[in-house]
Amino acid sequence: MKLKLAIQKSGRLSEDSIKLLKDCGIDLRNVKDRLKTESDNFPLEVFFLRDDDIPQYVDDGVADIGFVGENVVYEKNKKVEVVEKLGFGKCRLSIGVKRNDEYINANYLVNKKIATSYPVIVEKFLKEKNIVAEIHEISGSVEIAPGIGLADAICDLVSSGSTLFMNGLKEVETILQSQAVLVKNKNLGDAQQKLLDKLLFRIQSVKKAKNNKYILLNAPNENLQQIISLLPGMKSPTVLPLATPGWSSVHSVLSENEFWDIIEQLKANGAQGILVVPIEKMII
Ligand code: ATP
Ligand code: ZN
Repeated sequence: MKLKLAIQKSGRLSEDSIKLLKDCGIDLRNVKDRLKTESDNFPLEVFFLRDDDIPQYVDDGVADIGFVGENVVYEKNKKVEVVEKLGFGKCRLSIGVKRNDEYINANYLVNKKIATSYPVIVEKFLKEKNIVAEIHEISGSVEIAPGIGLADAICDLVSSGSTLFMNGLKEVETILQSQAVLVKNKNLGDAQQKLLDKLLFRIQSVKKAKNNKYILLNAPNENLQQIISLLPGMKSPTVLPLATPGWSSVHSVLSENEFWDIIEQLKANGAQGILVVPIEKMII
């Protein structure tokens, strides 16, 4: 028996989806013929689909789980459960209006025409704000709609904002922060759930490792206590004597966020030869 996973066939999520599996130690056979493949070293079968279709396939049980953007999950509104954020495919779904228009708040949108490929999410947003506006659904090139007189505003995915800018628009409101997530069928069988738990354990270890670095440094013994107090480590830092008297080698794990702050303080306490190396997997 295998766990059936749906991922995007070709697009912004494809490479990162396969990379995540690889980081989890799961090799895929024949990724090139790209319809369906399996792994030789994990009971996993992978389907390659359009991202828009993934929630439906998971809801139907054709696939047990899927990797897909939150934007698509909320727009399709299928009966699937979001289990884990995957940390890639980050983007935002935003409202854009003509650059020269004055926009103070969402009331700007009252009785306006909004072009979008996300009618469900936009409608929910308008309802929450008690705004009546017209939603004009189009499937691609949403950003050109105001320029050709098709709409007053748009709602679309944005990463840098340069597409909006090139089309004479400005981003005025973010309605969803999105990233790729793992979704599962709501009635997963026991055996399937066990395989999913195994996969999730690996995904979480990979995510933790990405957020942490392994640090090694040489510390003068007279400042050892201060230096150790700066380095939490998983339990506590490892301290080994150096061949040079009066010095120790200290090893620990640091999170990406506190990294630069702590490095400064370590240097101020006389730490030398600081090495920071990536961690491949982290199990605690
Ligand atoms: P498909 O052929 O599978 O339907 P698509 O054209 O709908 O592909 P892509 O453009 O490949 O989709 O985007 C897939 C997903 O990647 C989006 O739904 C979103 O979750 C995510 N994404 C991340 N960054 C961006 C971005 N800058 N613009 C658009 N989508 C992004
Ligand atoms: Zn799509």
